[in-house]
Amino acid sequence: MKNLHNALLLKHLYQLKELGYKYTSEKVFSENDQNLLKLPNSLIALKQQAFNCHLCSLSKSRNQVVFGEGDENAEVMFIGDVPLEIEDNEGKPFLGRGGEMLTAMIEKVLGLSRENVYISNLLKCHPLASQEVHESEFHTCKAYLFKEIKLVNPKIIITLGEKAYHYLSNDTHSLTEIRGTIIQKEKHIILPTYHPNFLLKNPSFKKEVFKDLQKVKKLL
Ligand code: SF4
Repeated sequence: MKNLHNALLLKHLYQLKELGYKYTSEKVFSENDQNLLKLPNSLIALKQQAFNCHLCSLSKSRNQVVFGEGDENAEVMFIGDVPLEIEDNEGKPFLGRGGEMLTAMIEKVLGLSRENVYISNLLKCHPLASQEVHESEFHTCKAYLFKEIKLVNPKIIITLGEKAYHYLSNDTHSLTEIRGTIIQKEKHIILPTYHPNFLLKNPSFKKEVFKDLQKVKKLL
């Protein structure tokens, strides 16, 4: 009941924010943000809570909640932005050609397997192609991601694409400016790079990602 009460309270606060109320100041990624929502202290229970989540409008259009997966004690965590249709159908993150590219990045550059890392997204529910995703939905769902980070406690977080970096850090630098930078935030190192789906459309940027992942490999 306490979880439900907190979830409803958070939803109400975001509705007020959408109406123009300012009830909080801009903050950087902080482990203390966990206090916004009392979420379970195990990934299994957290996943179960997300499966039953109706905190934002994306719950109406999803087929399945796409929760993070991988090694619960991973040193490296990849964070994307939004689940695609194929992921919504299968209930797993990073499938299809983008998923294959991510797997190749993990295996060929880091020398790890997908099972050795943890992979998640900012949003756990797939928006329809016609559906505009509001800032409040990213902020609401971020509570699950922050708890995943706290529970997995990775040494290095690789954000894929501008949205993932922006919503994780609250830093408004463009990805072009910040990509490949090693950023120490509290207990974690964050390294922003391009999203595999972007690389599918812009293969000439693969060499930049290769360089970024080489930096990660040195840090491991
Ligand atoms: S996107 Fe996140 S906050 Fe919105 S319904 Fe899905 S799990 Fe809940």
